Amino acid sequence: MIFFQTLFHEIIGFLGISRLIEICKTGDYKVLLTLNGIFSVISPLIPFLLLLEIGRAIFYKRFKIEDYKMPFFIFVANRFISRFISIAAVAFCIGVLEKYALFGTSLKWYWFIYGYVIWEFSHFIYHYFGHKVRLFWCLHSTHHAPETMNLSVTYAHFFLEAPYADVVRTSICILMGVNPPLLFIIMFIDGTWGAFIHVGENLIKDGRLGFLNNIILTPSHHRVHHAKNPLYMDTNFCNLLNIWDKVFGTFQHEKREMKIEYGISRDVNPNNFLDVYFGELYGLWKDMVKAPGIKNKLLYIVMPPGWSHTGEHKTARVVKRAWVEENKESVHLVKEVVEG
Ligand SMILES: [Zn+2]
Ligand SMILES: [Zn+2]
Repeated sequence: MIFFQTLFHEIIGFLGISRLIEICKTGDYKVLLTLNGIFSVISPLIPFLLLLEIGRAIFYKRFKIEDYKMPFFIFVANRFISRFISIAAVAFCIGVLEKYALFGTSLKWYWFIYGYVIWEFSHFIYHYFGHKVRLFWCLHSTHHAPETMNLSVTYAHFFLEAPYADVVRTSICILMGVNPPLLFIIMFIDGTWGAFIHVGENLIKDGRLGFLNNIILTPSHHRVHHAKNPLYMDTNFCNLLNIWDKVFGTFQHEKREMKIEYGISRDVNPNNFLDVYFGELYGLWKDMVKAPGIKNKLLYIVMPPGWSHTGEHKTARVVKRAWVEENKESVHLVKEVVEG
């Protein structure tokens, strides 16, 4: 009995409908007009889209259990640890740093825009270093290991990544004066959109979303981010407003002539939980053991993935450059890489 009760609570929790159920029970529908009420309506959106995506895949006989198995295991493994560490990390950063904020902001619309731009900047910083510093890549690569794209990928993260991401993002935002209530609203919107951009081709074939593709970061851009094609590697780090990718030169549109290959460049078994979860950490450990001298060992931790003490680097930059060299005849593709 307890098992079924726990399972029921887990499912309600996953679907994000506990607050909605409470509102229905009390009959106090006016709550829906408050910010909390709006959150309670939007929260179930992504879990339901995920179910719809799975439903469609089953209907069109495209459902493959492997596409969902690993993110599901990771979600369950993270369920009890990650969330609480992350909430504690956010609370800690706010408590410690709020008094050092450059200035104060309020819940006015213009501060909301300011806050969102700062939030995107902080997200860019966390995400960029998640790809460019080997230790942080060990945390982030779990999210990139799946070799297909669907909404379940949004739940696939190494359990220590959320605290790392939240410490970086919260610290920058709080120091830049984004006040906590404003920050929570932005985090909610960002979390919802950040999940939605993992929508698979089973649900939305063309992720460009029409004209939106030229204004904001769409599922198409995030599919590019999850690709291991040399041209696409280490691009599109933003989440909703891709201004910082444009500022820092990491912006990349999806090219119709280049089919996305999802996953990471390391040889990984996407169906092996241990490999997906700890494979990069193990690889880093092996490289450190092999490296001569303490300096080289430490460099492995902070240099980009693919850096080698022998000088034979296989970083994303080196791989991309080699690809450009090999594909000189595809001028229209190359031109963009060189300019970008
Ligand atoms: Zn990433
Ligand atoms: Zn992603």
